[in-house]
Amino acid sequence: MWSKAYSLIFIGLWWILSVSVVWGQETSAPVKIDAPVNLTVATRDVPPFVFEEKGKLTGFSIELWQAIADDLQWKYSLKREETIGALLSAVQSGKAQLGIAAISITAERGKTFDFSQPIYDGGLQIMVRVKERSAGAAFLDYLLNFFNPNVLGLLGTMLLLILIAAHIIWLLERGIADEGMIETKRYFPGIFKAFWWAAATLGAQADEMPKSYAARTVAVLWMFTSIFFVAYFTAQLTSDLTVRRLEGAINGPEDLPGKRVATTAGSTAEAYLKNHGVKVTSVEHIEDAYKELENGNVEAVVFDSPVLLYYAAHDGKGKVDTVGQVFKKEAYGIVFPPASRFRRPINESLLHLRENGTYDAIYNKWFSPPDNSQ
Ligand code: GLU
Repeated sequence: MWSKAYSLIFIGLWWILSVSVVWGQETSAPVKIDAPVNLTVATRDVPPFVFEEKGKLTGFSIELWQAIADDLQWKYSLKREETIGALLSAVQSGKAQLGIAAISITAERGKTFDFSQPIYDGGLQIMVRVKERSAGAAFLDYLLNFFNPNVLGLLGTMLLLILIAAHIIWLLERGIADEGMIETKRYFPGIFKAFWWAAATLGAQADEMPKSYAARTVAVLWMFTSIFFVAYFTAQLTSDLTVRRLEGAINGPEDLPGKRVATTAGSTAEAYLKNHGVKVTSVEHIEDAYKELENGNVEAVVFDSPVLLYYAAHDGKGKVDTVGQVFKKEAYGIVFPPASRFRRPINESLLHLRENGTYDAIYNKWFSPPDNSQ
């Protein structure tokens, strides 16, 4: 009886132990692909993520992929595609088992593809030409900007007011005995003196005042009118010049509609621009968009911020500049066909590389600290 009970307990314990071992193996065992792996990896040139240097592909994404492949001891060959659309098609059709470049993770692409966990956080930004002008041309520009119709209108009004004040004072003040401000009764040269006085009073610089009571009353009114006019003139001039400087300039995405903008075909930037009524020039390679901008064929390039910042700091230095901040955040991922058996090991490897510092080392090699803060 007792021995039966003992054997039952023993069998029960043994069962619990064996089940927990199997259970434990199921949850903690690394996903391993035992057979040798030889992948075709689709990619595309987008410096500094992927580009050719001395006949070899390099860049942030290429080095990160190399680190993943080393970590998993997988072999691979890179397949370069011309556009982001061609890259995605290669993955969808199975010509490549995965794709890595500067591929944004979007809900739309998520319907057709699976993505790894994010490998880079970026977003869209605007780039424009740096205005290259000689000092003389800049000065002429400034003068033309200053003497615009609005300002000329204000100067005309000022002249008219001076003429009116001068005539009233001339009428009231001319030839008063010997003491008057205007000694002669004649129009010339009396009006010159009155004109000089009215202009000087407007500038708060009059050294002499009329003597007759009537003229003095008008003088007081003229002095107050002058104060108001100068204040109004200054305010108008300042706002006019500010508006003129802002007009036509691209300072943010709200200035893009109606402007000609270049970006790459099939990119998230292209989709954004088309949705916002911007005239898009779509090109295959981002370098072609830079050329369009530098040749003056477009007024801006809209693309991935890290790509634009890299160009503006290297080959485009002094020629182009980014405007404002990232206006639409996006993250990059490695793209797979749905339910790819390679996704899980790659995600695990990415975590491993983040924990052992490899990811940071590659990141810091390609992106300087300001870019880091994006
Ligand atoms: N991040 C962009 C996208 O995924 C890149 C486009 C491109 O490579 O041209 O749409």
